[in-house]
Amino acid sequence: MAGEIPRSVVLLSGGMDSGVCAAVAARETEAAALHVSYGQRTEGRERRAFEQICDRLNIARRMAIRNDVLSRIGGSALTDRGIEVPEAHGQIGQAGIPVTYVPFRNAHFLAAAVSWAETLGATRVYIGAVEQDSSGYPDCRPAYYQAFQQVVNAGTREGGIEIVTPLIALRKAEIVKLGLTVGAPFDLTWSCYSREDKACGICESCVLRLRAFSEAGSADPIPYAEPLVSHRI
Ligand SMILES: [Zn+2]
Repeated sequence: MAGEIPRSVVLLSGGMDSGVCAAVAARETEAAALHVSYGQRTEGRERRAFEQICDRLNIARRMAIRNDVLSRIGGSALTDRGIEVPEAHGQIGQAGIPVTYVPFRNAHFLAAAVSWAETLGATRVYIGAVEQDSSGYPDCRPAYYQAFQQVVNAGTREGGIEIVTPLIALRKAEIVKLGLTVGAPFDLTWSCYSREDKACGICESCVLRLRAFSEAGSADPIPYAEPLVSHRI
């Protein structure tokens, strides 16, 4: 079917990386967007970001689902109110796997996305996982996606669904630059792990994001509660 625009499913949490990934998917394919709420602290804000990003990118086909398994299991600062979201102090990715890691989360997300892709006849699943320069989550490593690809090949009706990770080898500053090139709606994205009104500016996700914009020589358009943080990192 040469010339036909392929269909895809893109996982869109509403954060910076998934916002860039969705913009890439929307340019390359007829994209459908999937959002998963899993009892994380900022789920309401992330859901709003998801809807707004889809509107901006003209992604009409979208689905927001809930996964209760991850919060029932807990074990992460994002889903367990008994574990505090730590402040980041410059050692991100160097001190083992942080408490913000949600155990095996991306497998749940990918499973849902592949199920939907198979039903839609989509041939790609996009996910904005980043290995370098990030928090060191084990389900963001290239080997994990290569292995998951094998699972998809063996476990779907016809195979032929490709897991696409356009950001996996990029540094965070490169993701910002790519996003600016493809028209990613950074103003609508939400990355903060702990707050929903203004981004806290001190959690690991905020610090990574601010550092990325700073290194890219660009201003982050979202509001921060700690306006001086960009000077401290
Ligand atoms: Zn934050």
